[in-house]
Amino acid sequence: MSTNTPLIVLQGLQKSFFTEEVETRALHDIHLSIGRGEYVALSGPSGCGKSTLLSLLGLLDTWTAGRYLLGGHDVSEINRAERARIRNREIGFVFQSFNLISDLTVEENVGLPLSYRSDLKRGDIGPMIERALQKVDMLHRAKHYPSQLSGGQQQRVAVARAVVGNPSLILADEPTGNLDSKNAEAVTQLLESLHREGATICMVTHNPESAQRAARQVELFDGKVVSDSMAGAHPVPKLAAVI
Ligand code: ADP
Ligand code: MG
Repeated sequence: MSTNTPLIVLQGLQKSFFTEEVETRALHDIHLSIGRGEYVALSGPSGCGKSTLLSLLGLLDTWTAGRYLLGGHDVSEINRAERARIRNREIGFVFQSFNLISDLTVEENVGLPLSYRSDLKRGDIGPMIERALQKVDMLHRAKHYPSQLSGGQQQRVAVARAVVGNPSLILADEPTGNLDSKNAEAVTQLLESLHREGATICMVTHNPESAQRAARQVELFDGKVVSDSMAGAHPVPKLAAVI
């Protein structure tokens, strides 16, 4: 695959939720192209569709219309198993509430995404977990349980879990939203260092300062992209007759 191919191309993506016959349009006609190695901050007021967009990017949910190309591969019509496989290999998630499993140790939590990988040999897994924990400076807590860690430490472990399988995309939904300012800064710096090492990061934030630190700012309002600091540099290819 050419490295010039954008990692993400969204063409007219829409998402509606239906609850008791009421339709909520969470996303309207999203056109967006994100290149490899970009660090994009997604912002906008509460309810504007940020988390919905992130869950579509992460293949956690399906869209109602439009097309999503991930690494040049159309992921609009793949089956559940293929979707899960791509999600597991290509995407790392970091959530506001850490989402670590409380009865697994730090190293077991970090190793979880690898346990579904049939392409890895047994002997590969330990060193991969160790490297990921080293990256976030948590190797000394490998045998601890999440409840024995501070919030900032738990989020660093969650970042290790997101990067352990070397995904092509890291998605973070308000990763510092539950942290005090010192821990928020540490987690922000950690994401910035992963970006310098080549990771593609898409981070939701409603903190303008943290959005400004990303190389590109995309703003959503009412389910639409209303501004994109790098729009000119990322033309979205025309929507072919697919839908
Ligand atoms: P944000 O993350 O920007 O605060 P969300 O993406 O969570 O916004 O929500 C966008 C809109 O979609 C909101 O109106 C929200 O109520 C609605 N929504 C999100 N998830 C669901 C769901 N599972 N079922 C019904 N409506 C939802
Ligand atoms: Mg949200």
